[in-house]
Amino acid sequence: MGKRILVVADVRNGALRNVTNEMLGVANRLAQGGAVHVAVLGHQLDLPDFGAAGADDVWVMDDAHFGNYTPSLYRKAVIEVIQQVQPQVVLFAHSAVGKDLAPAVAMRLGLGQISDITDVETDTETPTFIRPIYAGKAFTKVVATSEPYVVTVRPNNLAPYDGAPKTVNTHTVNVTFDDADLSTIVREVVRKATGAVDLTEAKIIVSGGRGVKSEEGFSVLYELAEVLGAAVGASRGACDAGYCDYALQIGQTGKVVTPDLYIACGISGAIQHLAGMSNSKVIVAINKDPEAPIFQVADYGIVGDLFEVVPQLTAEFKKV
Ligand code: FAD
Repeated sequence: MGKRILVVADVRNGALRNVTNEMLGVANRLAQGGAVHVAVLGHQLDLPDFGAAGADDVWVMDDAHFGNYTPSLYRKAVIEVIQQVQPQVVLFAHSAVGKDLAPAVAMRLGLGQISDITDVETDTETPTFIRPIYAGKAFTKVVATSEPYVVTVRPNNLAPYDGAPKTVNTHTVNVTFDDADLSTIVREVVRKATGAVDLTEAKIIVSGGRGVKSEEGFSVLYELAEVLGAAVGASRGACDAGYCDYALQIGQTGKVVTPDLYIACGISGAIQHLAGMSNSKVIVAINKDPEAPIFQVADYGIVGDLFEVVPQLTAEFKKV
């Protein structure tokens, strides 16, 4: 018998992030013919065609209060939807918001949580979730022993829904707030300019390390990124040296990324950096030291000075 799965959409600035489509893909596999619900919270929402994306039911909460992520409001609203839908599984993105919201909801409802899944096997009665452990060096399989439960999904790993478009039922939800809920609303959100492409959703990342040597040195990386439609990332070495903002940091204490292509420029490949990028589909390393550990995880390695190699790559890609 099919299951009811609830996806909590990952919204930024009123628009859905790609990981929502990936969660809808997973939800359809978990539902096994059952119903896939999606809850969308935000303000002045730009809603996609949810039927094509694999949803059967959409629960929309478009309200000025949801314009910025406010933990107590979001938690209350999601719990309201869960109580109406009664799902067996609730999916959140393993994003900045999802990592905060999912455990808060799970804790309030006394549910178990499986975090940061990168895949799921659905050929048995009970799904088996795959998640990385030991900073991405190994993978573990996890099975939930009771329902309902909460799962967070790592962006950029799972396929979106590719089945026939569905007919969607749209519901509106009215959540009532009291003063205590509103007391933590953020009045000002400072958005850091990290380039046009969101790092955690980027299909291509050009990343720089201490070998880039200065803030100005990063301009060669930005030029390549622009030609490729890529995001720019960095090692902690580069961030600590003040070459770029910590918002760009990739690794164990930075962002975890899984792009199709990761181009590491002047990055040695410390274990803490690999923790954030070693699951990238194709890794290209540019380093003047042939012994640099990054070459051990790279699919393609270029031994050379990045200030010669990167501009040549940019010039060649411009021709394509
Ligand atoms: P380096 O190790 O100094 O490497 C620079 C590289 O650039 C060298 O390999 C060099 O050969 C090459 N190079 C120099 N000039 C050129 C040139 N002109 N052309 C080509 N190559 C050149 N690090 C992270 O990145 N992310 C994290 O999240 C993170 N978390 C950490 C958490 C903890 C608890 C600790 C202890 C450390 C953490 N680190 C993290 C730091 C990590 O251990 C390394 O110190 C850091 O990744 C090194 O950055 P790097 O590779 O840019 O610098």
